[in-house]
Amino acid sequence: MLYSGRSEFQQVAVIETPVFGKMLVLDGDTQSAQRDERIYHEALVHPALAATADRSDVLILGGGEGATLREALRRDDVRRCTMVDIDGLVVELCKQYLPEWSAGAFDDSRARVIVGDALAFLREDRNAYGAILSDLTEPLADSPSHPLFNDGVFASIKSHLAPGGVYGLQASTGSVHNAALHCKMARTLRRHFRFVASYFTHVPAFDTDWAFLACSDAVDVARLDPLVVDAYCGQLRGPSLFYDGETHRRIFSLPLYLRRMLAEEGDVF
Ligand code: SAM
Repeated sequence: MLYSGRSEFQQVAVIETPVFGKMLVLDGDTQSAQRDERIYHEALVHPALAATADRSDVLILGGGEGATLREALRRDDVRRCTMVDIDGLVVELCKQYLPEWSAGAFDDSRARVIVGDALAFLREDRNAYGAILSDLTEPLADSPSHPLFNDGVFASIKSHLAPGGVYGLQASTGSVHNAALHCKMARTLRRHFRFVASYFTHVPAFDTDWAFLACSDAVDVARLDPLVVDAYCGQLRGPSLFYDGETHRRIFSLPLYLRRMLAEEGDVF
């Protein structure tokens, strides 16, 4: 245990494990682990950034560790990236104990880091972003992220997207025994966006298949040409671990059970 305590918003632990290295745990849920966080963060960030019409201004909701910020800033055409996380203690602990995650991103002149509630930020901010990335904790009833999952907020997020923009979010597990929350998010978002593409990949430290959603009125991210993805990836600073055109094709190719579940009527937020 490197750190354990309670912030104003959540229980926070930073632990070190033999297999996955250091890990951030909030309210008992693993947020990311040193050994495989690049799988999660590349998967969250790059499909949306590859597909958007304009990468110059990017907004991250949550994203405490700074790794979502790091991934967005790997593209030189991202001129500004704003990250809004409610928990200043989590951000500071990540800088102190998990500097490998942000890898200097917090000091990048293009980064604007705001400690505050993403809900309040969305109410007050008047900018439009080419991509909005939601790297929030799971919207469980007692989580500070819960108020960000409803029709009103999804409409507000959409109104903050520039033409051709993409909203990408981490969207719970897509595992066969536990995909109800993912499907609920997808169903609700389909009321707001023309295209809502589900995708997932195994994240070893989560010990499950982790799912994401890429939402847009302009582009079906699932159908992005792998050659376009490769061209996009070719202009990222530094080597990637996970995402390229071939991976894009794989993660957006869903198994039958998930396609069926996503097509069913059911709960919405
Ligand atoms: N990878 C993650 C997972 O699997 O759940 C999410 C990573 S990130 C650490 C989640 C961040 O969302 C936390 O730092 C938390 O403080 C932030 N957060 C939760 N509710 C928020 C809100 N209402 N506004 C802004 N940030 C919020």
